[in-house]
Amino acid sequence: MDKFALFLAFLWFLFFIFLFIQLVEYIKYKNWLKEIEKKPPPKKILDILNNIKYYTLLPKNLKKVMNFKIQIFLNEKKFIGIKINITDEIKINIAFYACLLTLYAKYFCYPNVEYIFVYPSTIVKKEIEKYFANQEILIEGEATYDTVLIAWNDAKKEIKSCRGNVIVHEFAHEIDYSDGNIDGLPPLDSEKSKEFAKIMFREYEKFKEKTIKGRFLGKYHLINKYATTNKAEFFAVMSEYFFIRPALLKKHFPDIYKELKTFYKIDTYKILGENNVC
Ligand SMILES: [Zn+2]
Repeated sequence: MDKFALFLAFLWFLFFIFLFIQLVEYIKYKNWLKEIEKKPPPKKILDILNNIKYYTLLPKNLKKVMNFKIQIFLNEKKFIGIKINITDEIKINIAFYACLLTLYAKYFCYPNVEYIFVYPSTIVKKEIEKYFANQEILIEGEATYDTVLIAWNDAKKEIKSCRGNVIVHEFAHEIDYSDGNIDGLPPLDSEKSKEFAKIMFREYEKFKEKTIKGRFLGKYHLINKYATTNKAEFFAVMSEYFFIRPALLKKHFPDIYKELKTFYKIDTYKILGENNVC
């Protein structure tokens, strides 16, 4: 065998070693999935989950899906604390509300999202405006293609007060993003998407018009005005109401409630009832 043939054989050998390692990793991962599907999560996860009232109210079948998904989420996502120590409480709360939105899809775990940056309090973001000087804006969270930013103090306050939920909000953006466009239209087949757009955007336009003209807002005064920013924000804010304050949404915006119920394949009103629980 000449040197070149030896070199080629060596490359093939490396290639098969690489394939073998990949295969072993894949089998290990599949076995791990089977294992976590059968068993409840470890006690330290379960203890924190049981402190989340929403979790305790989930019906048995959804609790089982949550137990499964939350472990995948915690295993796959990289949590990075900016001037804050990432605790189990932070990780599990973020994972819980992120997974809550996708209980309809057992194996969906935000494949785009790689990082979750957690800040201790409201984030100061410098916006460079085209014609104006640099502006500072305050944000509670942000969702980009592969990263979600969460201001933990704001998230924690909202979890207690049930007024909104920045975690639900940002992950609703990620769902919206998962079809490649952040446009207020989550992935749906074309027929359903038409109906969804018709109902959602009709309400969005009405709300926006009333807000701009400063007219009597009527039932829209119940909704956070941030929803009128654009269609994507409308979807994210309405998703917050759907998951955190379903009674309000169902009573005053039954069409939106129905569309979101069809999309998220969960009846949050049935779970939470008249009370705000979070
Ligand atoms: Zn938003």
